[in-house]
Amino acid sequence: TFRIHIAALAGRAERRPTLLTFEDLSEQRVIERMRVDFVANASHELRTPLASLLGFVETLQGPARNDEKARERFLGIMREQGLRMARLVDDLLSLSRIEQRAHVAPDAPVDLAGIAREIVDSLTLLAREREVTLKLKAPSEPLQVPGDRDELLRLMENLVENAIKYGKRGGEVAIAVEIHDGEASVCVRDDGPGIAPEHLPRLTERFYRVDTAASREAGGTGLGLAIVKHIVLRHRGRLTIESKPGQGAAFKAILPRYGTGRSAA
Ligand code: ADP
Repeated sequence: TFRIHIAALAGRAERRPTLLTFEDLSEQRVIERMRVDFVANASHELRTPLASLLGFVETLQGPARNDEKARERFLGIMREQGLRMARLVDDLLSLSRIEQRAHVAPDAPVDLAGIAREIVDSLTLLAREREVTLKLKAPSEPLQVPGDRDELLRLMENLVENAIKYGKRGGEVAIAVEIHDGEASVCVRDDGPGIAPEHLPRLTERFYRVDTAASREAGGTGLGLAIVKHIVLRHRGRLTIESKPGQGAAFKAILPRYGTGRSAA
């Protein structure tokens, strides 16, 4: 979309030239639109648990003041809502920090195979709760990529956690760390219900969820894959998502290695 600015440089009477400028506003408009939507979505996401929290405070100060049983239950719910808000604020902060550093590619040596092992260990309990088997295939020697250790841990954690949460109860999650020429990849595959094709292009948008209730139930903020995408982009890599409904989903992050392309310098 082009907008035409017509600025009359002079008064009508003097017949001076009229300046005509063409400016492509489409990208600028899209960015502005995204910003407005983001603030609205984030406010809404915070408002919901906040309203619930305040509602329970009022009930505890009023009608339920002397009800010991209700008090215990309400405090439990209030804690949950508080934790949900804390998770959301933490994810918003992570996302904004990653975005702020987007123009600097991280280049500390990070062992991708080691990261995968750490995440498998730390998510064993969650996997057990959903009776999910975690399978890891990674080279036994270190596989170093130029990166940011915390961000790569986060990337792997978000993908494996999603596979456990949205995959099949009692199913299997396969994590594979591989080398191909100048690149390294991590692939997380589950055997759950998968994702319908119409959702795939929007999956990494902030707050986009296929099933909002299921996401909330699982404690999701709707920001996990947006964080994954920004981490991959900052590492100058790419993310692919493949899924056939009924046959699970596979998320693959492909990252450049040392000594190839940009990292050779
Ligand atoms: P959330 O906090 O909701 O988990 P994410 O950004 O991590 O947010 O994921 C966005 C949505 O993508 C999820 O709500 C879920 O609907 C869908 N999704 C993510 N991973 C998978 C998966 N492995 N299988 C099926 N759906 C998934």
